[in-house]
Amino acid sequence: MRIHVIGCSGSFAGPGGAASSYLLEQEDENGRVWRVLMDLGSGAFGPLQSAIDPADLDAVLISHLHPDHFLDLTGLEVFWAYHERDDLPQLPIHAPEPLPERLSAVLGRKGPVPDGVDCVPFDYHVLRDHQQFSIGPFDIQVREVVHPVEAYGFRITAGGDVLAYSGDTDTCQALDDLAVGADLFLCEAGYIEGRDDRFTGVHLTGLRAGEAAVTAQAGRVVLTHIAAWTDPAVPLAEARSVYSGPLELATPKAVYDTGRSDSPS
Ligand SMILES: [Zn+2]
Ligand SMILES: [Zn+2]
Repeated sequence: MRIHVIGCSGSFAGPGGAASSYLLEQEDENGRVWRVLMDLGSGAFGPLQSAIDPADLDAVLISHLHPDHFLDLTGLEVFWAYHERDDLPQLPIHAPEPLPERLSAVLGRKGPVPDGVDCVPFDYHVLRDHQQFSIGPFDIQVREVVHPVEAYGFRITAGGDVLAYSGDTDTCQALDDLAVGADLFLCEAGYIEGRDDRFTGVHLTGLRAGEAAVTAQAGRVVLTHIAAWTDPAVPLAEARSVYSGPLELATPKAVYDTGRSDSPS
């Protein structure tokens, strides 16, 4: 499984890149490459177009309805609804239930159909805790995590490898379950110890992300969702204080391969 970081800035787009968005690619047994997008936050539709032609997307997963995770669906909807190709199928979007009305509210329209076209460009699927479904070669497990709004993390298996994505969450059993034995644990570390102690039930710190990685025995950790006002060395050091395995910070345009064949033997 290949993971492209499209955007990884926490809570809002930063001077160096967009908010959360990750592109997953996996070839199936017939040699067709499937592409699933996880989140499309503020500013992320621009760099997505640098990575792929968005018309090649097979599906989108939206972890929760905070703007830094879904807002650039407005751009993707325009792209899909008015594209010169008339053979684009409805694009499956798996998201919390209120997504269609949220998009319509942002766009100031009634209902899910864009002006001037006949049909809804997206095929909406509602996420639920403990749901499991497949998109091509991707097997996806969904767990509800702890955040001020309905929010989900994903455990995605493809080609025998496991990617765990925290979405936005504080410490919880669901996060530990998602990450058990993951080859790659893409985990948010939006807060830092001390500065953000007044908040609970919102974000992990580097320390709490590291603790989850230790509990889950994750094989490799990539910390993400670090806001522009945070020195990324701080959450990295927090995680390093408890987790001794491969650990790094997500950066825009980074590409990760989970394939065990890519690891040194
Ligand atoms: Zn966020
Ligand atoms: Zn959030």
